[in-house]
Amino acid sequence: MQPSSRRIRRRRRAAALASVTLLTLVVSTSADSGRLPAGSATAAGPTATARPAALGPCMISGAVDVQLSEGIPTPPGYARSTGTVRALNLMVDFSDAPGRGSALDRYREFFPQTTRWFRTSSYGRLDYRPAAPVGDWLRMPKPFKAYGIERGAPFDPAYRKLVEDLVAVADPKVDFKAYDLLNVLVTPNAGPSALDTVLSVTFAGNAEAPVADGVPVANASFIYSRQDDGSGSYDKTGYRVLPHENGHVFGLPDLYTQDGGGAVGHWDIMSEDWGAGNDLLAWHKWKLGWLDDEQVACATAPGTTEHVLTPLPERGGGKLVFIPVDAKRGYAVELRTPGGNDEDVCKSGVLVYKVDADVDTGYGPINVVDSTEDSGGCTRSPNVHAELSDAAFAPGRQFKDAGAGIRIRVGETDGDGNQRVSVTRR
Ligand SMILES: [Zn+2]
Repeated sequence: MQPSSRRIRRRRRAAALASVTLLTLVVSTSADSGRLPAGSATAAGPTATARPAALGPCMISGAVDVQLSEGIPTPPGYARSTGTVRALNLMVDFSDAPGRGSALDRYREFFPQTTRWFRTSSYGRLDYRPAAPVGDWLRMPKPFKAYGIERGAPFDPAYRKLVEDLVAVADPKVDFKAYDLLNVLVTPNAGPSALDTVLSVTFAGNAEAPVADGVPVANASFIYSRQDDGSGSYDKTGYRVLPHENGHVFGLPDLYTQDGGGAVGHWDIMSEDWGAGNDLLAWHKWKLGWLDDEQVACATAPGTTEHVLTPLPERGGGKLVFIPVDAKRGYAVELRTPGGNDEDVCKSGVLVYKVDADVDTGYGPINVVDSTEDSGGCTRSPNVHAELSDAAFAPGRQFKDAGAGIRIRVGETDGDGNQRVSVTRR
C-alpha cells in the first residue's frame, strides 16, 4: 500500500493548526510579564549575549504577532536545545484503547533512534537523555473518546484535561521538575491511523499549562498511531515524528503548508518526517545553537564576497551563508550531500532558500529555490517530495534575485568536497 500525498498533507495541517493555537499563549504571557529577557538560561538556541556584531543583520526577526517564527534568537519559554536535555516519556492508554503488549515496546519505537538523530544533527551539541520512569501503561481515568481529542484540537479544553489527568496519575512515581520536556507516547490503537488523520501534536512554550511538581508542563509532544507508510521502512524511519514534534518544543515552526511539502520538500524534518531519513536546514541548526557563529557568514557588504561551504553532515567548517534582504527576511545558502541523517539526497549541491521571519508556522516561512523547475525531481523514494529533490545548484550555476540586487554563484568544488560560493549584492 502506498500512502498518497493527500494523506500526508492532511496530517501536516493538523499539527500546524495546533501549534498556532498554542503559541498564542507564549506571546501573550511573555508580553504581559516580560519575565525572561532573551539570553536568559531558559531560552532556546544561541542566545548568548555577546555575539559578533557582523552577524547582527542576519539575525532576522518577525513581527511580535508571529507565534512561531524563524527569527533568531528564539524567544524564551521553549526547551533548551543544547547541552543535556532530559526528556520524560510517559506511555498512556485508555479503557476504550487498552495498551497492547509492553509499554516499553512503545518507548522502544522511538529510542534510542531519536537520541541518535539529535546527536547526529546537532554534531553532538544536544545530549538528549530520554527516561521512562514508569515502565507500564499509565491508564487515563476516562475513555479516549471522552477527551474529545481530534485533529487540530487546541490545548483547551481537551489537552488541558488530558494533562491534568496524566499528572495526577503519574505524579506519585514521577518528579516532573527533573525534566526539560515531556513526550506522551499514546497507545497506537487510540484514535485513527496516522495514514488517515495524524493527531500527533506539540504544545510548546505553554506557561499556562497545568502545573506538576511546581512547574508548568510547558513543553509537551503527544505522539499517536504509527507512521507506517507501507514502504517497509517503518522500523527504520517511523520514529521521526518524535524529532519533528520535539523540534517545536525547541521553537521550530512547521515548514509544510496547506499544499503539503512543496515549499521545502525533504530538506528538513520540519517539512517532511515521513519517508527516508532527513536532517534540518543549516538555518535551523544555527537557530538551535548547533552551529558556532564562526560557521555562519553574514553577507552584507556591497560587491562580491567569497565563501567556502563544507558539507552539512560533516562536523566543523563553514555551513551557512546568509544574505539578508531586510530586517525580516533573507536568503540562506548551504551545501547538501548524502550523509548523517540525510539518507536520500539524490543530487548534491548548493541549496538556496528564502527565510521569512514574518511568516508564521504552517504558512511557508521558508521556500527552497528550485534550480531545475518542473523537472520532476531525482528521487524515487516513497513519501519524499519529488520535485524539490533536485533543487540544489550544481557548480557553475547561479541564482539571481534582480529585485533585491542579489546574485549567488556556485563556484568549484575542491578535492575535499568543499564548495566555493560567491555572493554579489548591490
Ligand atoms: Zn509540526
